[in-house]
Amino acid sequence: MELTNDQKKSLLGQGFIPSDDGVHFACRVLIPAGKMNAVEARKITEVCENYGKGVFNLTQRANVEIPWIKHQDLDKVASELKEVGLFIGGTGIRVRPALVCKGSVCKYGFINTEDVAKEIDERFYRGQYKLLLPNKFRIAISGCTNGCTKPQLGCIGLQGRKPNQVAIMIGGMFGKDHTLGRELPGLYSVSQALDIIEKAITYYRENGLQGERFAKTVERIGFETVKSFLVD
Ligand code: SF4
Repeated sequence: MELTNDQKKSLLGQGFIPSDDGVHFACRVLIPAGKMNAVEARKITEVCENYGKGVFNLTQRANVEIPWIKHQDLDKVASELKEVGLFIGGTGIRVRPALVCKGSVCKYGFINTEDVAKEIDERFYRGQYKLLLPNKFRIAISGCTNGCTKPQLGCIGLQGRKPNQVAIMIGGMFGKDHTLGRELPGLYSVSQALDIIEKAITYYRENGLQGERFAKTVERIGFETVKSFLVD
């Protein structure tokens, strides 16, 4: 059965990425905080052997993509992954799962990046999954100023600066066009930072133009105006 473009678009928004051969899909498997256990790793291996061509790719945002999956197998792949607590997703015009460094175990880390990522995913990715935005919204978290996940390039980025204190950057973007995010004044507790992320998402939903990235919204409206909304 030939899929329509609308059907392919809908599948893309759910984490099933159409391949350029027009037949197969790559299933994006979310790996929370970039860490998977042996059971999950075995299941991914099993799925890519049984339904794909025995290979998978690692994405820039520390997830996994299993290519060469046929349309008729998508549901089976999703349900087999779910057996071990893995989910397909991470696409669409919504908040994306957080990109984090290994700051929870790194000697330089000032914050527990794994815990922060889990909270962000729960609160903003899963918690707001059905609330669509003008475009994708990316959050990047680094445990220290080495900035391994490049928080300056996230729509919003957190960077550990002192124990349990982070700097926040807003309005970064990387891709066809790129912009470095600008830092909000001061340092914040993780809990304060999460509240500011929530305000930024709300601001973007209410003020962003259709298709506009958050970086462009900040640029169009002005950093000072957005900053005042977020922290004043
Ligand atoms: S950003 Fe800092 S804490 Fe995170 S992995 Fe890199 S060096 Fe470690």
